[in-house]
Amino acid sequence: MGLPNKHLHLTIASVTSCAGAQAAPTTLAGEANVSKAEEKMTTFSDMEPLPYFGEKLAVSLRSVGWLGAESIFKKGTTEPGVYQRLRQLLVDPFQPFVSAGLHSCELCQFEAEAHGSANLFVPADGLLLVCPGLILHYINAHNYQAPTKFYEAVLDCPDTRSMEYKRLFLASGGRGLMSISSNKHLQAKPTLDG
Ligand SMILES: [Zn+2]
Repeated sequence: MGLPNKHLHLTIASVTSCAGAQAAPTTLAGEANVSKAEEKMTTFSDMEPLPYFGEKLAVSLRSVGWLGAESIFKKGTTEPGVYQRLRQLLVDPFQPFVSAGLHSCELCQFEAEAHGSANLFVPADGLLLVCPGLILHYINAHNYQAPTKFYEAVLDCPDTRSMEYKRLFLASGGRGLMSISSNKHLQAKPTLDG
């Protein structure tokens, strides 16, 4: 009796659901779904070289207000004029790319009352001081006090869509930022030319 050699080719459909991929959709879904695209805030100490956009660019970038739950930061008052100027600059900050990640305030005790993904580049002495848009909330709600040098630079900063700003941006290390839009977390945006 020749039993058919039952070589069941068990192709165990590898449904090992892409564990670890954590491919959060980059779509900023409705407010109710904010947590889906949320990312943990990457933190850096104030005025330290900022490696967020790559080690090479860190030399010309300084971090301001990259706060997380564990951050120890200076508290104090901020001049209303500085706050207002910062608010203006963050209405339409120039970014050579858009970070796909949405960050939520980690300083709020229970529920994050502010979310943001924008970054503002403020030229200062040949460098770019880089703060997240959430800095407004940190100042307003958590009494965060940014370095004086940053506040001075904010008051001196031209409107981010002006030629003067673009000139300063490029002269302060921004040129390197223009070429990193291929990073998978960053989406290319129109170039600065013109
Ligand atoms: Zn908060």
